[in-house]
Amino acid sequence: MSDIYDSIIIGAGPAGLAAALYNARDRFKTLILEKFYPGGQIINTDRIENFPGFESIAGADLVEKMKAQAENFGAELKVSQEVKSLEKLPDGNIRINCAKENFTARSVIIACGSDYRKLGIPGEEEFRNAGAGVSYCGTCDGPFFKGKTVVAIGGGNTAIEEALHVAKFAAQLTLVHRRQEFRATKVLTEELMQKVNEPHSNIKLKLDNIPLAIGGSTKVENIKLKNVKTNKEEQLPCDGVFIFVGMIPNTAFLKGFLDLTEAGFIKCDVGYLRTKVPGIFTAGDCRIGAAMQLATAVGDGVNAAMMTKQYLRDPKWWNMPISDSLAPGQW
Ligand code: NAP
Repeated sequence: MSDIYDSIIIGAGPAGLAAALYNARDRFKTLILEKFYPGGQIINTDRIENFPGFESIAGADLVEKMKAQAENFGAELKVSQEVKSLEKLPDGNIRINCAKENFTARSVIIACGSDYRKLGIPGEEEFRNAGAGVSYCGTCDGPFFKGKTVVAIGGGNTAIEEALHVAKFAAQLTLVHRRQEFRATKVLTEELMQKVNEPHSNIKLKLDNIPLAIGGSTKVENIKLKNVKTNKEEQLPCDGVFIFVGMIPNTAFLKGFLDLTEAGFIKCDVGYLRTKVPGIFTAGDCRIGAAMQLATAVGDGVNAAMMTKQYLRDPKWWNMPISDSLAPGQW
């Protein structure tokens, strides 16, 4: 049997595992390469309530089901395989260079995900997970803070959108930002200010402040802030801290090979998920325009696998425009 895989998937998060299920079920020789262990971000999520079909499921349990489902259809998983670089070979195949081994495939799906940017302050790691009080996803964890007092950190689009969402559940939300001006778009900032200025609003702002430490015994009980203009420190009591200070895609190994945005997200045509290199697709939180949700990552994985099928059937498909308005090379 040939050593060449039909499809190699980089990353065993929800996008990668969903892609592997579809590719393996199409009887393609499929390999998933994972740097650490399967699951991506959801492996650390206690309770998922927004994945359709599951009222509530632990992230680790969902990962186990996804992994088993893909493997049952013949997908092969190799863990502790950190991809260092990719090469397009003269015969059209793609070589994937890991630290100790190389693999060759006719097609690749890059689903290497993103990590939440951390504040790097005491208490952040200790209380990480919504049960203990530190969360990086308001859409996922907002409902767990019903009637509670929470603090959100950040001033970008995510911070404002997510703070507005969490404030629908929390009794009180304080948004802490390190400057006076928000990085978020004007429309979102205006929406926030409108809410803040409503009579009896449950959203307060603390501008020109940075977080210094998150405190508590077994759960979050307070956060220490410092005003960067006055240097005055204060401790705010709270039940939870939402950290929305950006995402870092795990794409450093692709620099110079694929087109990345300044922030490191993989450029692709968001309809068919093609990168600039024929045969290489991307899926999930590492690509531009991702909604950063479990269900959309799974959808992306499925989409990339369906497009892989088209490409493997006929590589000329690669140059197919999605519509008259989006010609190949325009993404
Ligand atoms: P972002 O735009 O990079 O914003 C990060 C925010 O966190 C900034 O306000 C930044 O402050 C602050 N920050 C960073 N490090 C910090 C630290 N150590 N301590 C305190 N604050 C810190 O990230 P994002 O909001 O996650 O958005 C990522 C991308 O997705 C952006 O391009 C965004 O436009 C896009 N997005 C779009 C939408 C939408 O269109 N609806 C929704 C969500 C995200 P400074 O401003 O002072 O640097």
